[in-house]
Amino acid sequence: MKQNLLELNSEEMKAFAAALGEKPFRGKQCFQWIHRGAGSFDEMTDLPLSFREKLKETADIEPVRILRVQEDPADKTRKFLFGLVDGETVEGVFMAYHYGNSLCVSSQVGCRMGCVFCASGLDGFVRNLTAGEMLGQVFAAERETGERINHIVVMGMGEPFDNDENVSRFLRLMHDPEGRNLSWRNMTVSTSGIIPGIVAFAEDFPQVNLAISLHRVRDEERRRLMPVDRKYPLEDLLRAAREYTKKTGRRITFEYALIAGENDRDRDAEDLIRALRGMLCHVNLIPLNEVDELGISGSSRARAGAFAEILESSGISATVRRKLGASIDGACGQLRRRP
Ligand code: SAH
Ligand code: SF4
Repeated sequence: MKQNLLELNSEEMKAFAAALGEKPFRGKQCFQWIHRGAGSFDEMTDLPLSFREKLKETADIEPVRILRVQEDPADKTRKFLFGLVDGETVEGVFMAYHYGNSLCVSSQVGCRMGCVFCASGLDGFVRNLTAGEMLGQVFAAERETGERINHIVVMGMGEPFDNDENVSRFLRLMHDPEGRNLSWRNMTVSTSGIIPGIVAFAEDFPQVNLAISLHRVRDEERRRLMPVDRKYPLEDLLRAAREYTKKTGRRITFEYALIAGENDRDRDAEDLIRALRGMLCHVNLIPLNEVDELGISGSSRARAGAFAEILESSGISATVRRKLGASIDGACGQLRRRP
């Protein structure tokens, strides 16, 4: 089987070149080409022809292809359906912010966490993505948009801490100084609350931004929305979050999807304030994206604003997430479900 070069870091690429009888710096050059987005060996014009031929025989640059694009005419937001080499599909969203372009990357095909408001898990879990497939989403989105992506958020389909090895490798590939050299601070990982993952993340990636999906702050209620809470209850989760901040000095973002009549009342805001008191954190309020099958609806814009104000008046920093690509519509996972 051919080696997919998207999976290799610069050191491994040098070793790969050496094993083909080339000088290691040729491997470095090849790595640089790939991380500048080259899709074929023929583009690597400063590599000797003989090396390129050897690469063609032994290696691949397995692409992630864009099968469908939905574009919001109001801004530059674009939602992609990515096709993987085995025919599976995942989604990604490209967003332009004042600080640069961001891509929301998927980490798994499907998801096994089963949150009731989320479309990504509706069909269950299929498989983990490799690091190269996550990287491939970045390259494909850049090719499609013609723009450079300088912020990645692992917040698409899947639970990153259920696939930590590949996600870690992906983050390191993005950071590789011989490749993209993306700063740790320009990366964000979002988890539904897998505590061992949070503990390891504080150790391994103290500079990468961490987001935790909270949504409710009482176990009996959170459990109804997020089965993960049965294994990792709130008290333990919030303790892990405090430990994370103690260790890294970093502010955590809590995601809170506002569901009309479920978790958006004044008293829910007060519960949230009590739970987060004294923490170095930010709350990202997301009016729930409707998923047809699920029959729950998001809070109104006005309600979301009022909820944010209650938090702010108690000293908890909160923002209502800009409704990106409103006309594209729909939650993560929806595009995949509408062939
Ligand atoms: N699995 C990780 C990351 C992917 S989900 C996690 O759960 O954190 C990314 C974010 O989208 C999470 O905060 C998740 O709770 C939220 N989300 C899922 N379905 C949603 C929906 N229908 N509307 C709004 N946010 C949703
Ligand atoms: Fe998985 Fe996150 Fe969706 Fe929950 S919200 S099912 S953890 S992708």
